[in-house]
Amino acid sequence: TPKPVKLPTKQRDASVDVRALYSASQGAAGKELINLVVVGHVDAGKSTLTGHLLYQQGQVSQRTMHKYERESQKCGKQSFMYAWVMDDTEEERSRGVTVDVAERTFETERKIVHILDAPGHKDFIPNMISGAARADVALLVVDASTGEFEAGFESNGQTREHAMLIKSLGVSEVTVAVNKLDVVQWSQQRFNEICSTLTVFLKSVGFRSSEVTYVPCAGLSGENLVKPPSEPQLKAWYSGPTILNAIDNMKSPSRDVDQPARFSISDVFKGGSSNMCVAGKLHTGYIQSGDRLLLLPHTSAITIKDVSCNSAPGSIFAGDSGTLTVSGVEPDELSVGSFLCDPAKPMRRTTTLQARIVVFNVIIPIIKGTQAEFHLQSVCEPATVRKLISQINKSTGEVMKNRPRVLARQTAGVIELELSRPICVETYKDCKDLGRFMLRQQGNTIAAGLITEVLGDQLFSS
Ligand code: GDP
Repeated sequence: TPKPVKLPTKQRDASVDVRALYSASQGAAGKELINLVVVGHVDAGKSTLTGHLLYQQGQVSQRTMHKYERESQKCGKQSFMYAWVMDDTEEERSRGVTVDVAERTFETERKIVHILDAPGHKDFIPNMISGAARADVALLVVDASTGEFEAGFESNGQTREHAMLIKSLGVSEVTVAVNKLDVVQWSQQRFNEICSTLTVFLKSVGFRSSEVTYVPCAGLSGENLVKPPSEPQLKAWYSGPTILNAIDNMKSPSRDVDQPARFSISDVFKGGSSNMCVAGKLHTGYIQSGDRLLLLPHTSAITIKDVSCNSAPGSIFAGDSGTLTVSGVEPDELSVGSFLCDPAKPMRRTTTLQARIVVFNVIIPIIKGTQAEFHLQSVCEPATVRKLISQINKSTGEVMKNRPRVLARQTAGVIELELSRPICVETYKDCKDLGRFMLRQQGNTIAAGLITEVLGDQLFSS
């Protein structure tokens, strides 16, 4: 039985016009924030391209770049010098050093782009999931060189799995970087060939053609990343957007700043004056210093001492990532995968839920009793499939069979899941970010799902 909840009384003035505050915080420039995940097969050139883009956007100092150049020369890996921009961040993270967000954020004409997850990491898929679950849009990097595009795309190549993942996690638009085109002498024919193969595939995954833009480029030389082509062979046939233009043209998501606050915790650490800090993302609502929030699933009241995030000091708006300094809570009550939310309208806490899932390319089909890890934002909990309710048509959602015995690869269905401990969720209908999840087994993603019903809610919502 869950412990009785004593909800803190909200102290912020209810008449505050959050929309107006949000508009004001955007300033005259009014740049929209967009979260970008970089995906693609290993060695497609994700880190090099992202690192070079950040460098060309002035996010990495000349001095740092010289350091990378020297160091990469020393160990005979000069072709990796831009990749180090990203890898270095990853290293810093694993050592627990606070990541300088500015290094992974750059601006386009109309947007502030936040790159999720350092893609330098070779063991990329597990990392990518947490990134993709927070992403609004994606940059899919493919290697155009002969045989390599095919390797990344055929059979077990990650290009396919990544594309399916980002679609099922709600990514709305994709820029495809057709990379390393220098290796094939900027061949237009090769570019077109790759585009048509990917168009068919991305369509089958569910992306409309208006949601995909293809850009020829070379991350290593920096061709067509920020500046229009200078390479005569490319200039001869291409006059479309640069990578930066394409990113700038993708739509920013709407920001639900006037919904109840939901902040997912992805990191917990000790702050300066013995206060605890939590890093994460605010999915809906608005939080400011002085707010009293509810920590879930633990159900403790918490006070926000300070807020640090990119947009406005002392406050954070839906869609932003940031760090909150908190008090009124024991350090061991704070954990990755917990949420801070509006005490008047808390999230749903449960161990059972109903969901619509899409089964990936699995060898063993999903049956009643299948066990897997449930991943939602930073939540990771063991789960068991309790019921197979129906098999449905992947694109129309129409029921094809009730109470199927199995859900085989590439099928879709409705299931009931039981978690080993209470977790906090929303239905997908109520909140996209907090209603979509992944099921994984031994490092492989077996299914992606959307929560359709929360069964046995353990908290009262008033
Ligand atoms: P990741 O695994 O996708 O992050 O790939 P990396 O960024 O680590 O790059 C893999 C290899 O491809 C490295 O040796 C890079 O130098 C090389 N590479 C990356 N981009 C390009 C490019 O545009 N042209 C060429 N010729 N090589 C590239």
